[in-house]
Amino acid sequence: MRKIIFNEKVLEEALAIGKEHLGEGNVADYIPELKKVDPNKIAISVIEDDKYINVGDCEQKFSIQSIIKVILYSLALENYRMDVLKQYVGVKPSAKPFNSVIELELSEKSIPINPFINAGAIVVVALLHGIYGDKTFDAILKKASEFLATDLTYSKEIAESEKASSFANRTLIYLMLSRGILSKNTNVEEVLDTYFKACSILTTTKDLAHMSYCLSNGGKSLNGNRIVTEKEARILRALMATCGTYDYSGDFAIRVGLPAKSGVGGGIVTASEDKYGLAVYSPALDSHGNSYCGVRMLEYLSEKLKLFIY
Ligand code: GLN
Repeated sequence: MRKIIFNEKVLEEALAIGKEHLGEGNVADYIPELKKVDPNKIAISVIEDDKYINVGDCEQKFSIQSIIKVILYSLALENYRMDVLKQYVGVKPSAKPFNSVIELELSEKSIPINPFINAGAIVVVALLHGIYGDKTFDAILKKASEFLATDLTYSKEIAESEKASSFANRTLIYLMLSRGILSKNTNVEEVLDTYFKACSILTTTKDLAHMSYCLSNGGKSLNGNRIVTEKEARILRALMATCGTYDYSGDFAIRVGLPAKSGVGGGIVTASEDKYGLAVYSPALDSHGNSYCGVRMLEYLSEKLKLFIY
């Protein structure tokens, strides 16, 4: 473990770099409710042992979106052996957008290639329904609240907006049903409702920094609670490194040099083995669905504080 020293000055500098890029990228508009967010919000949060540093709009709530996929997969790892899981969802990086139908169609047996693209996360939710039944969303919310070290709620408006515009996700789930990846008894509406609610969980960079800390501290939260095993934390970090920013993961590894997971709400959570938590937010996205300013702020911090691990 290395000791990385953050300070407010360097975070303010990174925030200023991010602000220079406000106006670039676009907020997600395929989910109507997400179009309403203010594209000029921007924030960075850091946790180091007992030091918190927050700059910008750190109290601003936004939907967690695909960042929840890390937590969904952690629940799957808790309940299924890896070799069983891999019959439903792979661990390969993706070369296409996160909701690509063609990538699913062309993958071996139409098994989603990783759990961080939509098809993969939807399969994981279906598997979790097999364990938790109608308590699945409660189990997800509980696990997310442990990871983020706070009591979370979800936005009904965003979940309903996602549901009403879920054409791509429906295509993916029906393709997986037709190929036998999902059993014919799958309750499609129940699985999708849970997935949309999970993506609509509201969070802030302050909360997400706790998730980052936990992943970077071998699966233990700041107050010492074990949230996932060391091995699970390592698997999650490995998947974040290879798949966390979708088909941008190679570029992200070069620019920032850390495992990370993004969401179309505009958040990015990083991970390392250096026992600090780091999360950024700004809702305008690049063409891959990653926060445009967020990537640039992380790139600055990584360069300045030598955060990169590759
Ligand atoms: N809820 C979003 C969707 O299903 C999640 C996508 C994302 O954050 N990349 O499309």
